[in-house]
Amino acid sequence: MAELVIKSPATGAEVGRAPILSPAEVDAAVARARVASGPWGAMTFAQRSEALSDFRRALANAADELAELLSAENGKPLAESYVELIATLSHVGHAATRAEKALAPRKVSPGILANFRATISYAPLGVIGVIGPWNYPVQTPVGSIAYALAAGNAVVWKPSELTPLIAVRIAEIAAATLPVRDTLQVVTGAGETGAALARAAVDKIAFTGSAATGKRVMMAAAERLTPVLLELGGKDPMIVTDDADLEKAAEACVFGGLTNNGQACVSIERVYVAAAVHDKFVDELAKQVRELKPGAAGNDSADFGAMTSPGQVKIVRDHLEDAIAKGAKVIVGGPSEIEGNYIKPTILTNVDHTMKIMVEETFGPVIPVAKVNSLDEAVRLANDSKFGLGSSVFAGSQARAIADRIRAGMTSVNSVMGFAGIPSLPFGGVGDSGFGRIHGDEGLREFSRVKSTAEQTMSLPINMMTFRQPKNAVQRLKGMIHQVYGDGTVARVQDLVRKWL
Ligand code: NAD
Repeated sequence: MAELVIKSPATGAEVGRAPILSPAEVDAAVARARVASGPWGAMTFAQRSEALSDFRRALANAADELAELLSAENGKPLAESYVELIATLSHVGHAATRAEKALAPRKVSPGILANFRATISYAPLGVIGVIGPWNYPVQTPVGSIAYALAAGNAVVWKPSELTPLIAVRIAEIAAATLPVRDTLQVVTGAGETGAALARAAVDKIAFTGSAATGKRVMMAAAERLTPVLLELGGKDPMIVTDDADLEKAAEACVFGGLTNNGQACVSIERVYVAAAVHDKFVDELAKQVRELKPGAAGNDSADFGAMTSPGQVKIVRDHLEDAIAKGAKVIVGGPSEIEGNYIKPTILTNVDHTMKIMVEETFGPVIPVAKVNSLDEAVRLANDSKFGLGSSVFAGSQARAIADRIRAGMTSVNSVMGFAGIPSLPFGGVGDSGFGRIHGDEGLREFSRVKSTAEQTMSLPINMMTFRQPKNAVQRLKGMIHQVYGDGTVARVQDLVRKWL
């Protein structure tokens, strides 16, 4: 049987193997999930919440083993693996406890049909296909999976071919704790296995990965008109104004740009700093970056580990060389400091939007800093991107107002990545960053079938939904328009009430 051989990005040693499943095997997993979705979807919210809490406890009890495996497969330092697991557990807990409230039936105004009771209710979709990336191989897919499960769906998860082992282990833990067999299954393999899942008879595909693959997934899903949720790449900007706390801004920028080696969809990928404080900010940034400690995967005290894939190292090198050839200045690091899968954190200045490093997703430990002459210029450049995932603003009293001007799904104010750590905040982007939302109530509703029910509770003298109208129907309907929407007494009273309120 064809299989994936997983090698440690830090040492090159084999970490383990996983089978490459065929399209027929993917279809079989989806069929099993369809069976599971019946009893799982029929459970009460309280029962599912309890089951998911058991699952979370079992994951937490296995945290040491999971963190080791995550670092071995992905190359990130152990501390970052634990942070990823904490974020994951918080999503499972939030989805489990929040689902009942977020998905409770809601009464809404019946409007002109005052004799109706109007209700919105939510039902499980059935089977959700989740396709995940390698950079946060647990947190990112579980950010969909937890909400899909809590909403009553069964899930088939195709992890990245670079990091399948952690997913296999999590599915084993799910199988041992969740009461319905096959509620969460993992299908391992590369692009072909993912494509098979996108074509399979699932009720929704939640895809996280690059924009290029996202388009392929959407085209494959179109065959069956399967709805898709796309969490794609980003080119997150950070704006630093002349009244910002520069030390705090630099500290946050170092973390936001370099955590997980810059391999985060919401990494700070470009910084726009007011000219008056640009040099001071860059000095502070460089000072803090020089304090970072490199190290191998699994090394507790390391600040950054190996890049997960040689392919990504190539992209980072290409972006750096392109920028330098076009006039960028290296302050720390640079392409000469790349050794194998290790890239020294790099700061560039003198950058502009003719360079790939300012417009394409770099996905590496690089912080390019541009000088801007006005706030308007900073906002214009921040919005000059095909992506629109996260963003960040460091400023004084204007910070919140600046945040509202940024075209992105999420903005952190005087912080970085905060929106990703709050499970009740919806997460997602615009433009080439994708569409749909995971996390929060929106995330639960993404994996639900929205049902509108209109229940007639009594009869009114004017009934617009019958052919059995009285002779003076036209007169009555005319009168109704005049009264409700025109200058009639009812409309005037409604206006008055609106003004008082
Ligand atoms: P990728 O697009 O190469 O792969 C993602 C997944 O898609 C993998 O599991 C892969 O096997 C699968 N795949 C490949 N070809 C496929 C096909 N034709 N049909 C279906 N599935 C297919 O992405 P990656 O390199 O693993 O991840 C990095 C990207 O993910 C970056 O762009 C990053 O910004 C993005 N990302 C986004 C978020 C977010 O929430 N928006 C989070 C993490 C990562």
